[in-house]
Amino acid sequence: MPPKGFRCTHCGECCYPPRLNREDASRLKKAGLKEFIATNPFGHSYIREHEESGRCIFLGWKGALSYCKIYKSRPKICREYPRVLINGDCRPQALKSDVLFRWEKK
Ligand code: SF4
Ligand code: SF4
Repeated sequence: MPPKGFRCTHCGECCYPPRLNREDASRLKKAGLKEFIATNPFGHSYIREHEESGRCIFLGWKGALSYCKIYKSRPKICREYPRVLINGDCRPQALKSDVLFRWEKK
């Protein structure tokens, strides 16, 4: 779950094709969205990426604000993001750089 008091600013930075668990895939299929599920050679399922942008195919924009086109059916990982903030920042690049920083310090 996101940290208490967290407010998404709808920057859209976190919406890359998310991995799906079994329940996610089943929910998407029931919602008639089977064609938007991709499976990699290891058998892991993902939401397809947008061909041009490489972002999640369900990422939409209203002006500068992002939104999820399948909000009610979105995967678990999207419901739970972000689990942590780094200096108040929830963008993947901030979380990743923090992980690298901690790793480099070891
Ligand atoms: S990176 Fe954070 S603020 Fe931006 S859309 Fe994702 S959750 Fe919202
Ligand atoms: S399913 Fe929705 S919330 Fe999840 S990555 Fe795609 S656009 Fe973002």
